[in-house]
Amino acid sequence: MREITHFIDGVAVTGSSGRYGDVFNPNTGEVQARVQLATAAEVDRAVQAALVAQVGWAQVNPQRRARVMFDFKRLIERDMDALAEILSSEHGKVIADSKGDIQRGLEVIEFACGIPHVLKGEYTEGAGPGIDIYSMRQPLGVAAGITPFNFPGMIPMWMFGIAIATGNTFILKPSEKDPTLPVKLAELMMEAGAPAGVLNVVHGDKVAVDAILDHPDIRAVSFVGSSDIAHYVYSRGTAAGKRVQAMGGAKNHGVILPDADLDQAVKDIIGAAYGSAGERCMALPVVVPVGKATADGVRERVLAELQTLKVGISTDPAAQYGPVVSQAHKQKISDYIQMGVDEGAELVVDGRGFSLQGYEQGFFIGPSLFDQVKPAMRTYQEEIFGPVLQIARVETFEEALHLPSAHQYGNGVAIFTRNGRAAREFAQRVNVGMVGINVPIPVPVAYHSFGGWKRSAFGDVNQHGVEGVRFYTKVKTVTARWPEGAVEDSAFVIPTMK
Ligand code: NAD
Repeated sequence: MREITHFIDGVAVTGSSGRYGDVFNPNTGEVQARVQLATAAEVDRAVQAALVAQVGWAQVNPQRRARVMFDFKRLIERDMDALAEILSSEHGKVIADSKGDIQRGLEVIEFACGIPHVLKGEYTEGAGPGIDIYSMRQPLGVAAGITPFNFPGMIPMWMFGIAIATGNTFILKPSEKDPTLPVKLAELMMEAGAPAGVLNVVHGDKVAVDAILDHPDIRAVSFVGSSDIAHYVYSRGTAAGKRVQAMGGAKNHGVILPDADLDQAVKDIIGAAYGSAGERCMALPVVVPVGKATADGVRERVLAELQTLKVGISTDPAAQYGPVVSQAHKQKISDYIQMGVDEGAELVVDGRGFSLQGYEQGFFIGPSLFDQVKPAMRTYQEEIFGPVLQIARVETFEEALHLPSAHQYGNGVAIFTRNGRAAREFAQRVNVGMVGINVPIPVPVAYHSFGGWKRSAFGDVNQHGVEGVRFYTKVKTVTARWPEGAVEDSAFVIPTMK
């Protein structure tokens, strides 16, 4: 069986823990490889390599670091087809969606190509008599990233793209469910000219994560995953004195006002709810139509769309989504569907019986639709992370605004309307971090930044863009003067700028 090894100091390193994780082919349900799960000593080996590499890497001027990013981008574009195939084969998302996953990461690399401009710092001439002040952003040292299964291309690049461009070296602990692509990315970074030790990949589970969180030489940890683990990572990492950003789960709402273009809004919501089998933190699993006529219109159109929605294997170009990542996750989604029924929601379409001929053991689940979903239901409050759309009917704009605002998660939200004033008010008042106006998946482009609110993110600084640069750098401010002439008296009073 194929064995997936760590990548430390520029070479494949065979782990010694004797512990492995199964890597499935979600289309067939078969185990296709096993991934080594690291010990704390193996994490430390990666940190030592990163520490040594960081000294030299921080000395490389920003323009040359950016050149590595330019070359990395070119190599990913060269290998895009093969990389997308690897991603799909372990994750289960369809090839076109895997290319989108990698492309969104690549956009952060494109931002990182402009790092010399972003790192220029600030300067004040004549801040005092003969005194100039300048500030600079310096790398932290060794940083680490812990990533989820659902974006094995994009999310690692969110992190190491900015960290490495700003002069840090990096330890990536990718999801053990789809670990092959992250290793390929590290190999391509070496091919692009990053010195050995600049990007290391250590596979693992809680043992590796705890070793990262406790390691005294790792200065910053970026995490993306589910909220309970995000909170744990944030608490333990900050208690160890690290800078931590920890993005968590989501339950994004799509509000539809009565004046919206319903045909377009429903098409948008279908893609956002069921694309990637709902396994996106920016999926739109809750639709909130305002008024009965809107709700009935949405339900009728969603039902019509579901008649033609095609679920298939990840290499089927006609498939709109593929299998979910594991049997355990398929079971969890099925359990949530049953819970919804037991809680009294109306199950309009049940995807549990779905089976694909020739792939009966694959982790497929058909699209499901609930109506009459109420805020008190657990299936509303919790993240299902599957191809399940829930209609939560409300009567007024205020109620529609209240639902996402009061929800425990606050990652993304969308409003569909033709009324600019209502959209503007919604965007201003809603208690959620990323808002779409007639945009169903409002993932900000790379030069803005990504981050939710409430239990969707712990920590103060978002991913990528200028926020990402702030996360991976610290400011140093220099106050300088060049005295001449007579020696001045000591000053015992704090200097001020009177
Ligand atoms: P997960 O929390 O199970 O795993 C994320 C990472 O944490 C993995 O690397 C995993 O190995 C590690 N991990 C798992 N259990 C751990 C434990 N007990 N202790 C320490 N580390 C542990 O998440 P997942 O299932 O891989 O990904 C799906 C989740 O990620 C969803 O909740 C989704 O909403 C969320 N997500 C959030 C964002 C965002 O930006 N907010 C983006 C993508 C995914």
